Amino acid sequence: MRIHLGIIPKLVKKITSFAQGLYEKEQAVMSMTNPTGGKMRTDPMGKGGFLAPRGGRDHKGLDFTLPDGVGQDVVSPLKGLVRRLVKPYAGLDFDGLVITDGIMRVCLYYVAPDASLLGKEVREGQVIGVAQDITLRKSLDGRTWAEQGMVPHVHMECTVNPAFFVDFKQKDDES
Ligand SMILES: [Zn+2]
Repeated sequence: MRIHLGIIPKLVKKITSFAQGLYEKEQAVMSMTNPTGGKMRTDPMGKGGFLAPRGGRDHKGLDFTLPDGVGQDVVSPLKGLVRRLVKPYAGLDFDGLVITDGIMRVCLYYVAPDASLLGKEVREGQVIGVAQDITLRKSLDGRTWAEQGMVPHVHMECTVNPAFFVDFKQKDDES
């Protein structure tokens, strides 16, 4: 599966100035690699789609199932820098990481990252860690999420640099 972003190629040259410290992009990011090779999660605890309802909130990412199960390899969706290792839930034993090329910031949750990659560049499709079992998490009543029907998955969230879309030219420049 490829995720098509529809980014406008003519803006690419301009954005390179915002990617300082990373690397220059020669081409627009038009797609990314599926981090698990899985499908979008759908189970009794909810759908894994973008903006799927979570009570009064929106699901801000996309959940990918694990065709090879918990512990399978997870690959980088894009070429970029492993900028930080993160914890999706304070105090709980789940992990994640952030990879960015200066335009796209991708956050993956429920991945035990290869910590040696922190601060390094990775290729699109390079193995960056292994999938954790988020269904071991428990609700307040003590039941695990697995017991409530959730399937193991990796959560992927993207943030795009607004400068890639928005022109910074000021009105004064027109005169
Ligand atoms: Zn999710």
